[in-house]
Amino acid sequence: MQHSGLILRDKNASFLLVPMPDQIFDCNVLIHVFLPLHMFCLVVCRKKQGLRSNASKETPGLMQGNRTDEYKTAEQTGGYDSFNEMKQRFLTFKEKKYLENLELYRRLAESQAPEFMVIACADSRVCPSVILGLEPGEAFMVRNVANLVPPYESGPSETNAALEFAVNSLKVKNILVIGHSCCGGIHALMSMENADGDNSSSFIRNWVIVGKNARLSTKEAASHLSFDQQCRHCEKESVNHSLLNLLTYPWIEEQVMRGNLSLHGGYYDFVDCTFEKWTLDYYKTISRGNEDVIAVKGRSFWS
Ligand SMILES: [Zn+2]
Repeated sequence: MQHSGLILRDKNASFLLVPMPDQIFDCNVLIHVFLPLHMFCLVVCRKKQGLRSNASKETPGLMQGNRTDEYKTAEQTGGYDSFNEMKQRFLTFKEKKYLENLELYRRLAESQAPEFMVIACADSRVCPSVILGLEPGEAFMVRNVANLVPPYESGPSETNAALEFAVNSLKVKNILVIGHSCCGGIHALMSMENADGDNSSSFIRNWVIVGKNARLSTKEAASHLSFDQQCRHCEKESVNHSLLNLLTYPWIEEQVMRGNLSLHGGYYDFVDCTFEKWTLDYYKTISRGNEDVIAVKGRSFWS
């Protein structure tokens, strides 16, 4: 079905689809278009009011603790207290970290200059800031299912958009791709009956297929192992393939060749709490016809 409504554009370049008059009373249009539009307008109005009120304050809320007057959240009405716990953790962060390191956070409010770009899995158990102690301002980070980096020719994704900003604007010195034990995304990749692509409607499948070369090399090298062991193998293999995929981006390869950027792999095993780290050694050798030389160096095991 074609949309025959009007396209409006607000000052913030947001596009709104507005129903034509003959569609207004169509029940589906009312539910799917008009109500969301109405809600969107409310949100925009509230946001703009918020911007105005914040703009008049030099340091909004900096020294304040609770501001329960503004929000009636679920935990106050339905007995659901997860956000109370979250609120306490935030206030503890504010008291113990933010206010005690005010100078640092003032500088971070002006700009960021992280040394690391980290690509990690979306899995709730593998937060890099927690396991590696990365503090605010130290690592630009993107997390996706199975910590995959698509090759340059795959086109835009949120992962390579983050890479572009980290490498070209922030000038990070290191990119660290972290795999982990018991990865559900890798399990999905290894479970596919056919990784050559079909018309699957699964977003997960269509994403993890990015790692099909890691799956292929795992099947070749570890076919004698059990399925679970093959998955463990692929969890590390996919990190190496992501490191190779990083080199398909011309602006990443250029910085690596100049010695301004290093590419690292990591593997966090949360079953026995160990971390393995290695670095990609990449250069071109003229003696072999400008051939790429790729190896692993500096492998270390933290336990
Ligand atoms: Zn994972």
